[in-house]
Amino acid sequence: KSETIILDEAAISRALTRIAHEILEHNQGTDNVALVGIRTGGDHLALRLQSRLQDIEGVTVPLGTVDITMYRDDLASRGSLPVGKTDIPFPVDGKRIILVDDVLFTGRTIRAAMDALMDIGRPRNIQLAVLVDRGHRELPIRPDFVGRNVPTAASEQVMVRFDDQLRPVEVCLSKP
Ligand code: 5GP
Ligand code: MG
Repeated sequence: KSETIILDEAAISRALTRIAHEILEHNQGTDNVALVGIRTGGDHLALRLQSRLQDIEGVTVPLGTVDITMYRDDLASRGSLPVGKTDIPFPVDGKRIILVDDVLFTGRTIRAAMDALMDIGRPRNIQLAVLVDRGHRELPIRPDFVGRNVPTAASEQVMVRFDDQLRPVEVCLSKP
């Protein structure tokens, strides 16, 4: 089993800063922008993006989380993933929602997260920011903001490490 470092702490930090600027450029500021992180991993990254948007624009954008439960049965049957606890402490109607996740793979988690948001209200639009896009999509979903595209084999795994303050410190590619 071998591990290769793809992004170190500084590289992750630069990627998040760039994505924050891209979000602001794409949305012409922070009006109606809200972040929704996907547990776990995406929620920690959404927190980092919120603090960068605060540093750049001086605005605290609303932040929420969704939990998509990964049951083995659902993975095996390749059906829709069930949605666990969601915490969206702001009205979704009319918002430009940036979904945030650490790793994008088949796209099924994002699809489930979009379903959960649409059940709550009617966002103006939904955008997707991911730290790593590892390919192997099974749905017509693509990220709007990407830290790094990492071509992977299905057997490989991307490890996103956070420190005890939930700061992202390392992204590795793990080969079996
Ligand atoms: P998908 O639903 O797109 O197949 O998988 C994406 C979800 O599963 C994300 O929430 C992500 O956290 C997790 N995931 C899928 N593949 C990987 C991976 O290689 N590494 C990590 N850390 N998470 C993954
Ligand atoms: Mg995750």
